[in-house]
Amino acid sequence: MVSRLFDTIVIGTGPGGEGAAMKLAKAGQRVSVIEAHSSVGGGCTHWGTIPSKALRHSIQTLADYRRNPLFQGIRSQLEVEFPDLLRAADGVINDQVRTRYRYYQRNRVELVFGQARFLAPDRIEVLRPGGLSEELTARYFVIATGSRPYHPPDIDFTHPRVLDSDSVLALQHTPRSMTIYGAGVIGCEYASIMSNLDVKVNLVNTRDRLLSFLDDEITDALSYHLRQGGVVIRNDEAYDGVDARGDGVVLHCKSGKKFKTDVLLWANGRTGSTQDMGLEEIGLIPNARGQLEVNQSYQTALPHIYAVGDVAGPPALASASYDQGRFVGAHIADGECDWSLVEEFPTGIYTVPEISSVGRTERELTARQIPYEVAQADFKSIARAQITGHTVGMLKLLFHRETLEILGIHCFGEQAAEIVHIGQAIMSQPGSANSIRYFTETTFNYPTMAEAYRVAALNGLNRLF
Ligand SMILES: Cc1cc2nc3c(=O)[nH]c(=O)nc-3n(C[C@H](O)[C@H](O)[C@H](O)COP(=O)(O)OP(=O)(O)OC[C@H]3O[C@@H](n4cnc5c(N)ncnc54)[C@H](O)[C@@H]3O)c2cc1C
Repeated sequence: MVSRLFDTIVIGTGPGGEGAAMKLAKAGQRVSVIEAHSSVGGGCTHWGTIPSKALRHSIQTLADYRRNPLFQGIRSQLEVEFPDLLRAADGVINDQVRTRYRYYQRNRVELVFGQARFLAPDRIEVLRPGGLSEELTARYFVIATGSRPYHPPDIDFTHPRVLDSDSVLALQHTPRSMTIYGAGVIGCEYASIMSNLDVKVNLVNTRDRLLSFLDDEITDALSYHLRQGGVVIRNDEAYDGVDARGDGVVLHCKSGKKFKTDVLLWANGRTGSTQDMGLEEIGLIPNARGQLEVNQSYQTALPHIYAVGDVAGPPALASASYDQGRFVGAHIADGECDWSLVEEFPTGIYTVPEISSVGRTERELTARQIPYEVAQADFKSIARAQITGHTVGMLKLLFHRETLEILGIHCFGEQAAEIVHIGQAIMSQPGSANSIRYFTETTFNYPTMAEAYRVAALNGLNRLF
């Protein structure tokens, strides 16, 4: 069999693979990208970020409509079911796929559809959908095969009432009740979506508080608002077994508690997609989570084979995966990379209300004995929030008492994931250009949510003595 030769072969068309492929193509390399699914975009576009965010947008629109006094008279005429929301998401997925195809075409990256498998450290076989296969050779490889929901062996995921974050996207009705096991980002986002559809939700958390990597005040607010929406949060629980029946699913916990609901959404952990890739045969052994260990340049134990995105472990975000891909593209093509791409990344969590943060939390700063002060603005006092009716939320800046540099930005409420980037831009400035004073010495459009920065900065500076 003739093996076609490329400079680099990228496996996977999610954000990690796309970031690497585009960077390499622009650097003049001959690049091929292999994709096992029938279209490009990765899990990000088809099963993860995009569908869940499109669902969440529809839910937010519905909640705004229900709350708006303008529609008071016709509110009861609106019936929205989960499949209606899924149909809205489909349109976005198709748009995304079209956009991403264009990127590959415009940059002359050769797309090959099929399952990639290593035959040797410099050679792969691509098993095409029709059964034919092809061999491809390259000097470098980027594995960007993503992750899939983790399935404990004792749970029957073939049962129609037992769902994961992929299969929930095929749900053909609105369940009356749902238990979500796992209160990480995905669990909390689906708890928001479902409770806004008036589904009774049990959110079962294996830890003592929600999303403990976030600022405590923000997670307290999230717990409060989820509970207000009817979500019952069960902290510190561990499952003992799942009993899927014809009339519902019972989740048994080690504490002796049991929850029976129409469906169970298992949102507890993901595993790297490394199976059936011939990796062990070439000396790359995935860890217990199916991920590939990499060094700080995202090289695996074989330096010409890189791994980026979910398959390389945390933070497992589309945003970070894309930047890791670009970083690796530069490492391969130029030997020089922009470290800032992979060092400090923000978190956006699309619950209702939305959450976003970048930089240090109060807990971290206190532990490091850094003298910081808090600058805070409540959305209820911001004119734009009052106009749009989105008064739930706040912006909190943490800044150094002496140098005034911004150390952390934490936000929840409408547009939090956008708002955080204003502060991020200042926080990333070198030296004295990173100062909270920027926000008191700049004129903001009025009324805007950005004004929250000015209000917060004045609040924080007033605390100094
Ligand atoms: C429900 C949900 C919501 C999320 N929300 C967000 C969010 O709001 N923001 C955010 O930043 N991140 C979010 N994420 C995470 C984000 O989707 C992932 O971090 C991101 O998709 C990882 O990108 P990737 O390039 O590593 O892999 P993926 O996007 O998973 O793409 C991997 C691709 O590789 C292909 N592939 C796998 N094996 C092979 C093989 N052997 N041969 C050829 N092709 C193969 C797959 O078919 C797939 O297309 C969410 C995830 C989920 C599940």
